[in-house]
Amino acid sequence: MLRNIAVIGAGVSGLTAGYALKKIGLEVEIFERSQSIDAFGAGITLSKNATLLLQDLDLMEFLSSKGHYPLGSFIRDYKKAKVIKFKTLDKNFITLDRRDLVLTLSNRFEELGGSIILDSEIESIDPASGEIIISTHEKKTYDLILICDGIKSSLREHYFDEQKPQFTKYVAWRGMTSIENLPKFEGNDKVNVYYGPGGHCVHYPTGRGDLINFIAIEHNEIWSEESWKIKGNKSEFLNCFAGWNEELLSMFDSSQEIYKWGIFERPLPKKLYRDKCLLLGDAAHPMAPFLGQGGCLAIEDAYCLASLLKDKEDLCSIVRAYDRLRNSRSRWIQKRSKLQGIFNHVSNPILAKIRNLLTKIIMNNSVNKLHSYNLIKELSELKKI
Ligand SMILES: Cc1cc2nc3c(=O)[nH]c(=O)nc-3n(C[C@H](O)[C@H](O)[C@H](O)COP(=O)(O)OP(=O)(O)OC[C@H]3O[C@@H](n4cnc5c(N)ncnc54)[C@H](O)[C@@H]3O)c2cc1C
Repeated sequence: MLRNIAVIGAGVSGLTAGYALKKIGLEVEIFERSQSIDAFGAGITLSKNATLLLQDLDLMEFLSSKGHYPLGSFIRDYKKAKVIKFKTLDKNFITLDRRDLVLTLSNRFEELGGSIILDSEIESIDPASGEIIISTHEKKTYDLILICDGIKSSLREHYFDEQKPQFTKYVAWRGMTSIENLPKFEGNDKVNVYYGPGGHCVHYPTGRGDLINFIAIEHNEIWSEESWKIKGNKSEFLNCFAGWNEELLSMFDSSQEIYKWGIFERPLPKKLYRDKCLLLGDAAHPMAPFLGQGGCLAIEDAYCLASLLKDKEDLCSIVRAYDRLRNSRSRWIQKRSKLQGIFNHVSNPILAKIRNLLTKIIMNNSVNKLHSYNLIKELSELKKI
């Protein structure tokens, strides 16, 4: 039986894992290098593959009162905002402000008696003995270490493989505005996605007051930093999307702050475990955010691990089962996310017509397939073997 677990990083993966493990009675400490965990506002969408698990963890009752149920998603063309396709979404799909997701996870974790140790960067670890060295020079030893330190994971680079995150040549611009600045067409309270030449945009309400989140992605050869906190230049942003729908541009313009974010990727390592260490979330499988699945997969990772730890005793077989289950699933979604970028950004007008036709024909099935993955079912099948 494990005595104690260290979680490195208090993002979506670290906090969900901390909570899920604490809920099954394990001793967990989360180390976070920042001084607080709710520093920035931005949106996040969670689909059924993740909300099903959050429901099972008794978290949806808290999140549903904070988020927004869009109940549908429009795909539109970039210029006239003409509808290419409408897809109904049910109440398993929620949009949120990240602060509300992160605070719900951390509050519930602390209510169960878990501790989040802020301002504590983990500088190094010893995968074999389970020792971690904190920036305060303190050393602690754990039976299991969960590496949840995000896409730039330096711990992964030191102890798993030497692959560094690589710039995808996609840049995300994001901002928040209020509901009265939304384009005035019907369905503006749903998820709205616009396909255009060399770019796409998404906006949706977050459920936090009247705050709307938007993200606009462009293809750009020039390297950009990866960070939620780097401010962008509004006129440079509006210039990139010149010629797009005027109401959309006016909504972009209404945001007080614009942030610019370089999208990075990193192939999965051969194995998601080494001795007493496991990789979760973006540290394991960062992906282009074009399917809105990075956070959902982080939740799947956390749930999967807690479920395996609940049912099995032997750590070696647990980490192998985790690797088997999570490796293939995340590899597939990572590939699909990348392809979605190419699909969304088609520039040639004839190819764009074909793309739109394909969207009409395949969108329902492809979204349903993506969202209907049921980890609970997969884990219960595994138990039967
Ligand atoms: C523009 C954009 C939009 C997105 N939209 C969606 C969406 O709609 N739906 C969705 O599911 N996903 C979305 N994603 C993906 C999602 O945001 C990520 O997959 C998710 O946040 C990953 O969580 P994480 O906990 O693995 O990593 P992070 O959130 O990066 O957390 C890592 C944490 O570790 C801490 N840390 C790092 N190093 C150390 C250390 N050495 N010691 C201690 N602490 C450390 C960091 O400070 C940070 O708090 C989007 C991503 C982007 C870029």
